Amino acid sequence: EPKLSGNFGKLMSWADEIRKLKIRTNADTPHDSEVARNFGAEGIGLCRTEHMFFEGDRIKAVREMILAEDEAGRRKALEKLLPYQRDDFYGIFKVMHDLPVTVRTLDPPLHEFLPHDEASQKEMAEEMGISVEEVKAKVEALAEFNPMLGHRGCRLGITYPEITEMQARAIIEAACQLTKEGIKVFPEIMIPLIGTKAELEHQKKVVVETAEKVMEEMGVKVDYLVGTMIEIPRAALTADRVAEAADFFSFGTNDLTQMTFGYSRDDAGKFLKEYEEKGILPDDPFQTLDQEGVGQLVEMGVKKGRSTRPDLKVGICGEHGGDPRSIDFCHRVGLDYVSCSPYRVPIARLAAAQAELRNRKK
Ligand code: PEP
Ligand code: MG
Repeated sequence: EPKLSGNFGKLMSWADEIRKLKIRTNADTPHDSEVARNFGAEGIGLCRTEHMFFEGDRIKAVREMILAEDEAGRRKALEKLLPYQRDDFYGIFKVMHDLPVTVRTLDPPLHEFLPHDEASQKEMAEEMGISVEEVKAKVEALAEFNPMLGHRGCRLGITYPEITEMQARAIIEAACQLTKEGIKVFPEIMIPLIGTKAELEHQKKVVVETAEKVMEEMGVKVDYLVGTMIEIPRAALTADRVAEAADFFSFGTNDLTQMTFGYSRDDAGKFLKEYEEKGILPDDPFQTLDQEGVGQLVEMGVKKGRSTRPDLKVGICGEHGGDPRSIDFCHRVGLDYVSCSPYRVPIARLAAAQAELRNRKK
């Protein structure tokens, strides 16, 4: 794996002496975690769990869960996923020993796990021993006009708490196992797409009850936190209330930008180029944080959150976490850390130091 050495390593260590912001990484494999750690990441700020659901046999169990007719059926399928998830988290926690790892519960709409073209639908039907019509019917039943504003994030976990339960179990089982082996782990379980405190409370209860049960079964205690993404404007506006149920906040500025501007994050490219050319918007707000609008929500979220919980840990894990100009803003509003992709960690370390120096001069 690449490591920072020589003059570049020295420059980085100078940056580290100066910066106040911590730098974490967005990673969901042991390999990416290791790359980021070698680049100086001080933890994982976002471990997305959706990619883990696609590999090998897992997708079959995921599809069984989606096709199941009742909770018992879903639980049976989730039981098959549990060992895979436990291994996933075990591997990542081990690489990131001594550092915090924020794991996010399942986020995407379930239709993303089903095939949408005829040939793959046929293949899935054969593999699962059902008819193509059944597959098509499920795809149709899950179709939404606006899936990114639809049945995803915590809404999934609230509808199907057994999914959150399986993931919380996998996280805490892996953490207990490593603790028994003498390896220090700091899991932080993060609930996505919260708009109200009640949503977070619902999911937190599932997580805490599961964690307590697992720790009793395994006879070890682990320190874990439960927190939330702040990526819906309403969550930022009501952050003082949301903070009553959260140990930490992480701003998901991809979704927050989408919902503040009302630009689809998947389609905005079609007109944003022209906006830039015509001077309507100087920067792509999905690349550089829009300080005037989205930034106000971030700043408000930090202030309101800390008015309830002065010790609230606050970070950012959207794409902006690796952009120098956005990092400067994150420094000014008092975030504890930014989280970015592994290869942007060195730039983020430098940008965080520059932000501190720029700030001192004023
Ligand atoms: C975000 O919305 O900013 C975020 C980090 O989550 P995702 O991109 O997975 O929606
Ligand atoms: Mg998001």
